[in-house]
Amino acid sequence: MEIKKDMAVSIHYTLKDIDGKVLDTSENNEPLKYLHGYGQMIPGVENSLEGKKIGDSLEVTVEPKDGYGEYDERLIAKVEKAKINADIKLEAGMPLQAETGEGVHVLYVKKIEGEDVYLDGNHPLAGIPLHFSLSVVDVQEATEEEKQHGHAH
Ligand code: ZN
Repeated sequence: MEIKKDMAVSIHYTLKDIDGKVLDTSENNEPLKYLHGYGQMIPGVENSLEGKKIGDSLEVTVEPKDGYGEYDERLIAKVEKAKINADIKLEAGMPLQAETGEGVHVLYVKKIEGEDVYLDGNHPLAGIPLHFSLSVVDVQEATEEEKQHGHAH
């Protein structure tokens, strides 16, 4: 069975930066299951899996525009430390949830300078080319329920 829209797909993946440093991998866990054609995966990964079958392996380099977007300096905001409602000590790289008019957004602590905290609304993987090793573990027709929900169960 080939991967196309409305297929529930299970993959193993290893994500590296272009220097070969492993950033994330599923290899020590269950395979990642997703519903193909619903934008659950970044476009560079989803498009490269189109038409693949169980047992196929592939190596894909994804540019930021097909990944987590270009890095946008305008998404950095300087906030006074006292205005951040956190129970724990703030550290660079830490994710924070921010309530906005459009729901909850995740911001990352970019750096701390004295009483100022720089919060970054970019995805941590924005702006960098990514290298994925992918292997297709399972491909099945999605159920009606999965299609309605827009994700795999
Ligand atoms: Zn569901």
